[in-house]
Amino acid sequence: MKTLLDRLSAGEALTGQEWRALLGSRRAPGITQELFRRAVAVRQEHFGRAVYLRGLIEFTNCCKNDCYYCGIRRSNAAAQRYRLTEAEIFSCCQQGYALGYRTFVLQGGEDPLWTRERVCALVSQIKERWPDCAVTLSIGEWPRESYRAFARAGADRYLLRHETACAAHYRRLHPPELSLRRRMACLWDLKELGFQVGCGMMVGSPGQTEAELAEDLLFLQSFRPHMVGIGPFIPQHDTPFRDEPAGTLELTLFLLGLIRLMLPQVLLPATTALGSIHPRGRELGILAGANVCMPNLSPVAVREKYSLYDNKICTGDEAAECRHCLSARMAAIGYETVVSRGDYPNFQGRKKDE
Ligand code: SAH
Repeated sequence: MKTLLDRLSAGEALTGQEWRALLGSRRAPGITQELFRRAVAVRQEHFGRAVYLRGLIEFTNCCKNDCYYCGIRRSNAAAQRYRLTEAEIFSCCQQGYALGYRTFVLQGGEDPLWTRERVCALVSQIKERWPDCAVTLSIGEWPRESYRAFARAGADRYLLRHETACAAHYRRLHPPELSLRRRMACLWDLKELGFQVGCGMMVGSPGQTEAELAEDLLFLQSFRPHMVGIGPFIPQHDTPFRDEPAGTLELTLFLLGLIRLMLPQVLLPATTALGSIHPRGRELGILAGANVCMPNLSPVAVREKYSLYDNKICTGDEAAECRHCLSARMAAIGYETVVSRGDYPNFQGRKKDE
């Protein structure tokens, strides 16, 4: 009889109930090992031993939103706010380019001082100075017209985690002015505008059970993103969720394996949050099916201030140290960090008029 893993490996879609059953089976003997074995084989087939690197530039921690889990939420008066200037961002890119990065990820809070025009000018200047690099934006929710403008300015990819695919759970994590409907509408807009799009959820966020995770997996199955960012929820001491337990390594790794089997060519990072809950979290993520790492390129002076959660790793390391540390870590498990844009395989790009 075909098991659920067999059906997943064969590219079949599973129902919500089947996803729940699969999640529920993770402590059964041998299941996790079998999942990772298959996930690694699929990743090997499409990407070999390559691990793609993205240089992460956390360019502002000012944010107009008030997400209950996030350390840079607007109500956190203890956060020391900063914004990098354009010159500082270019200097990060320059350093990153020299270190072999060919993707820059510009991530930040929803900062009203970074207007659509200013973001566009930044993106087009980066693309002009480093034409062989991809630019990924991770700056939250914008009207469709702004996303279109970012695309015209040359942005290649966009990361917007959906956080949870369950509307009631979304309300538990966010203030009333934010909605899952709006988040999803943004994701579909981004896809239609020809971005390589990333969504994803926190693992173990307050109120999340296997039922919510099954909804997340169903959503990924229908949305078919090019990238999926998942990491454990980690409490931040100045947020309403300060006393909530963190998500676990074990569940995050299991989900990475499932996502690799469901979306064989997906760009799947072993995230900083995963590296923050376990000293070998990122290596274990790769060994569960991930194929991307996103080391930090932000100036060391601001690293501590981009504190979405507590105990974040690498806040004291220069970009070059992070780069070399990561290559060594990957080499130690038999993987190779590569210098390339690392696009989604056979990505068609966007039409000229979009
Ligand atoms: N403002 C942007 C970027 C958000 S920060 C946006 O809205 O997309 C990137 C991601 O960090 C978030 O999507 C969230 O999933 C994650 N994050 C925030 N707080 C976290 C916490 N306490 N633990 C783990 N991950 C967290």
